[in-house]
Amino acid sequence: MVDYCIHICKNSRLPETDPNYCDKVFIEEDRENAQDYPSSQIYCPECVKKGFKNKHRKKLTEEQRKEIGKRLRQARKQKNGL
Ligand SMILES: [Zn+2]
Repeated sequence: MVDYCIHICKNSRLPETDPNYCDKVFIEEDRENAQDYPSSQIYCPECVKKGFKNKHRKKLTEEQRKEIGKRLRQARKQKNGL
């Protein structure tokens, strides 16, 4: 289960006079488990296109791993059933 939350572009942390300043608000998966709201941990899709790179995501939790494993097994089962 993935949570979605409101993010504000990380470039909103820049001074407004900065040419890269961006305060675009967008909805993204809450992969960072953000504490602040709206989260400004990641760049908006437009800034990513401009070349800003979001840092690598946290590793999957044990729970997420199990969930993925479960889905894979289900998908395989369905495939075998055909
Ligand atoms: Zn942006």
